Amino acid sequence: SSTASPKDKEIVRDYFNSTGFDRWRRIYGEGDVNRVQRDIRTGHQQTVDYVLDWFKNDKNAIGHTVCDAGCGTGSLSIPLAAMGAKVYASDISEKMVGEGKERATDPENPVFEVKDLASLSGSYDTVVCLDVLIHYPDRESEEMIAHLASLAKSRLILSFAPKNPYYVMMKKVGDMVPGPSKATRAYLHKESDVRRVLERLGFTIKRKEFTATSFYFSRLFEAVRK
Ligand code: SAM
Repeated sequence: SSTASPKDKEIVRDYFNSTGFDRWRRIYGEGDVNRVQRDIRTGHQQTVDYVLDWFKNDKNAIGHTVCDAGCGTGSLSIPLAAMGAKVYASDISEKMVGEGKERATDPENPVFEVKDLASLSGSYDTVVCLDVLIHYPDRESEEMIAHLASLAKSRLILSFAPKNPYYVMMKKVGDMVPGPSKATRAYLHKESDVRRVLERLGFTIKRKEFTATSFYFSRLFEAVRK
């Protein structure tokens, strides 16, 4: 099989077009939120800032083509476009894309599109996919990484929730607490598994970062062609 199961995807898409949209649009925004949401907002912003810092330090944003797969409300895409990159931002949720379009100041960059990342095509200097793999199990994540890698001329930037004994325990506790985030399952991925998939695809990890706040944790990989 070459694509993620339609059922997982439908659940995720429906969530980000309904209750998930209301929740994440606020977390990824600037207005008042509760303590947990503020913690997640801070953690997520750290992940975004790491990626923006890589572009700043490399001084290569201008004219660089970027595919931001699962762009959400444009938290990365919009500042990256402002730095001079040519950004193609897409997301499976039309609501998230709609919000991204509203937040953007330049109507032409990023270019926003409603699209399942499995059906993206083209070729980009950098392909980015932040905090999306958490919605898919290992096998499906692996297929998604392979597809994203096929679109990347030189670089693939991914973030995921790492699987280790501590976070497995945290997730078990989290699963027992009722709340809006229970609408979708969260899947953790072993760092060594993600690395192995990337290496098999001909990539090597050049830089990595890790963000952990109380309720947000995300491993960030920059993989480049060997
Ligand atoms: N990458 C954004 C960021 O970091 O600000 C958004 C992260 S949000 C937790 C996950 C996003 O992935 C949602 O906007 C969701 O609609 C999108 N998504 C989930 N599955 C997808 C798929 N198969 N193709 C494209 N987008 C997807």
